[in-house]
Order: sequence, then C-alpha cells, then structure tokens
Amino acid sequence: MEVDRMIDFSLTSEQKELQKKAREFTINEIIPVSRKYDQTGEFPLEIYQKALEAGLMNTVFPKEVGGPELGILDNCLIVEETAAGDPGITTSLFDNSLGAEPIIIAGTSEQKNRFLRPLMEELKFIAFATSEPGMGSDVAGIATTATLEGEDIILNGRKMWITNGGVASFMSTFVRMEGTKRHKGITGVVVPMDLDGVRIGKPIPKMGHKASNTVRVTLENVHVPKDHILGEPGKGFPIAMRTFSHTRPTIGAFATGMQRAAMEYAIAYAKRREAFEDKLANFQAIQFMIAEMKMHYEASRLLTWKSAWEADQDRDNTISASIAKAFASDYGMKTASDALQIFAGYGYITTYLIEKLFRDAKLYQIYEGTSQIQRMIVGRYMLSKYEPIFDRTFS
Ligand SMILES: Cc1cc2nc3c(=O)[nH]c(=O)nc-3n(C[C@H](O)[C@H](O)[C@H](O)COP(=O)(O)OP(=O)(O)OC[C@H]3O[C@@H](n4cnc5c(N)ncnc54)[C@H](O)[C@@H]3O)c2cc1C
Repeated sequence: MEVDRMIDFSLTSEQKELQKKAREFTINEIIPVSRKYDQTGEFPLEIYQKALEAGLMNTVFPKEVGGPELGILDNCLIVEETAAGDPGITTSLFDNSLGAEPIIIAGTSEQKNRFLRPLMEELKFIAFATSEPGMGSDVAGIATTATLEGEDIILNGRKMWITNGGVASFMSTFVRMEGTKRHKGITGVVVPMDLDGVRIGKPIPKMGHKASNTVRVTLENVHVPKDHILGEPGKGFPIAMRTFSHTRPTIGAFATGMQRAAMEYAIAYAKRREAFEDKLANFQAIQFMIAEMKMHYEASRLLTWKSAWEADQDRDNTISASIAKAFASDYGMKTASDALQIFAGYGYITTYLIEKLFRDAKLYQIYEGTSQIQRMIVGRYMLSKYEPIFDRTFS
C-alpha cells in the first residue's frame, strides 16, 4: 500500500552535524581572513588545506575514489555556511566539485580513480572549462577544436574565465570535434595542465570574489591521450548540461548564504545606528526591507533544497535548478543592495564588509549560466513540455 508522507523539512542528525562543522569552520578559519584575501587577491591555499583535512572539500566525490559521496543537498548545507563567511573563498573551495562532476557523471571507474583519487589524497585542484573569449552562455557555440590522431586527441583554442585554472592539475574541458556544428560535436576531455601547449594566463583582476583564481587558458596543439575523453567523442553536450543541473543548486546555496550575511549585517547596523533621534530599526521602511530580505532568504533556501533533493533522488532537476539559481542570485543582488542602502554612506566605503558582499553578489547572476539563461531554460520548458493542470485551450 502506498503511504502518503508529509513533506519533511527537518535535517538528519548527520546533516545537522555537517552544518555545524561548516559553520564552525567558517567562524574560525574563513571570517577572520576574509578581508585580507579580498584586499590582497592572494589564493587562500591554507584555508583549502584545512578544509580538505576537515572533510569540507571534494564532498561529492564518490566512495570508489576515497571521497565521502555526500549528496548535493548536503553540499548545499555546507556551502550556505561558507558563503555566509566569504563568497570568493567559497567559489574556489567548491570548484573541485564542479570540475569533478563531468567525470562523476560520464567517467569510467578507471578514469574516476585516475583523476579524482589524487585530489582526495592531497590538496590538488580540478577546474571546469566550457567558456571561451567568444562565448559563455551558448555552450553549443564552443570553438576550441579537437582532432583525433593515433592515440591522441589534439586540442586547439582558448578557454576564458577558468576558476582555479592557475592552480589546477586537471581541467574538465569541453571542446568541438573538427568539422562539426553546434551541440553534435561537443566532447568532454580531462586535460592535465602540465601538458606541452597548455598556457595559463595571469589571474584576471575582478570586482569581487578576489580570493578566487580566475584565468585564461590557451591550448595550442595539446596532445591529450585518448583515454582522457569522457564518454564518446561528440557526445559531450549532455554531460555539460547534466553537470550544470547538479551544480546550479549549489550556486543557489552560495547566493543564499551571501543573502544571510547581508541580512545579518543590516539587522545589526539598523539596531545600532540612529537618525531623527531614533534607531533605524524603528522605522517601518527599514523593517520592511529586512522583512523582504528574510522572505527572499527563506524562498531561496527552499528552492535550493528542493532542487538539490531532486538531484539526489536522481530526478531530472533541470528546471528546479534554473529556478533556484536565478531566484537566489537575483534576490541575492537585491538583498546585498538593500543592505548596503541601510548602511547608506557607511555602506559605500570599505569600512564595513557590506561593500564587499555587494561586489561578490553580482557574480552569482553571471557564472554557471546567467539569470537570463536560467529564464530561457524555464521559459522554453513552460511553452513546450509543461502540462497545464486544467485545459485552457481556446476553441
Ligand atoms: C569570475 C568568473 C568565474 C568564472 N568561472 C568559470 C569557470 O570556471 N568555467 C567556465 O567555463 N566559465 C566560467 N565563467 C564564465 C561564465 O560562466 C560566463 O561568463 C557566463 O556563462 C556568461 O557568458 P559571457 O560572459 O560570455 O556572456 P554572454 O554569453 O556574451 O552574454 C552576454 C549577455 O547577454 C545575455 N544573453 C546571452 N544569450 C542570451 C539569450 N539567448 N537570451 C537572452 N539573453 C542572452 C546574457 O545573459 C548576458 O547578460 C566564469 C565567469 C566569471 C566572471
């Protein structure tokens, strides 16, 4: 007999423990150095070393490579905490999960062990590369070419905005088989960064997420052994898309954590600052702004959790991932902006970290598919596959 179940929003005791561990790590290891890394733009290796030791890195790596094989929802719980401490440090902390995802999805057991096990044994990085100087949103428009020759696949082209590209040992790279068009020729290849012909650019200066390493990578006649190809040549587009469905809930969690931080700064400031002989907290206009922050934080969190849960259940979460990512990112930007507004003049200067959160917030609307691209995915679905509950056809 089928038993109806109430929806249950409670976390398991393991998940609560995980959340507590991530929260303590954030308080002890991330928050104290957040401003320093934002100012210097250095790469916080020391934090990643500690995160690896604490089991807070490579969290989705499968057990067969020595990983903890946590669920995507578990990963989101960790990410909300660390992003509430520092979005930029978190971007590079969780980039291994993005870089590894195509291998987890499409790699053979031997490939998983070859590429991912070393990352569990010591601090190493794996980057992810679809974007190029001439394209970002349009993944089917990848121009970097690949040709098969003997035992190798030879790559030529340029990859752009590659997070952790300057520190990575491997890069899960999407390229196009020479002579193919659009989706059909896309191929996933794991590129070792020390191969001849791989040239790594200098870190690209950015407005936010300064602790995160972002570089251009040029591939010039790079001979990669054929056994680095993920799945079959030309069949990589669905691998890239499935990767995003698995990682976009995490971006929702990033933006949710950042919202929480901005909201908490705003509350603390509103309770302290006075104007017109009263606390800001006593003005209804300020209370409404804070109420909206809480509403959007809760909604972002629930959408993120739902989408992560669907992915963990092996359901197609493409639509819920786009909804969660766009909603949390767009309201993340609004919350950061409103929080800065409550600080007003003091928000615009660098004394308080709210200015940093405002700069950091913007990236969530851009990477892993812009907010417009998420709307495009949802809109196309609504106008093709969505089945209305009631028949509304006009006769
Ligand atoms: C700090 C940083 C880190 C990044 N890390 C990585 C990484 O590790 N790996 C990686 O591969 N990429 C990475 N990216 C790239 C990122 O994913 C792209 O910047 C993003 O996908 C957008 O691509 P684009 O910048 O080329 O914008 P474009 O695709 O040129 O888009 C420009 C504008 O047009 C809009 N637009 C485009 N097409 C449409 C459409 N059909 N309908 C409506 N609007 C549209 C977009 O929403 C956007 O507003 C990173 C980017 C940044 C800034």
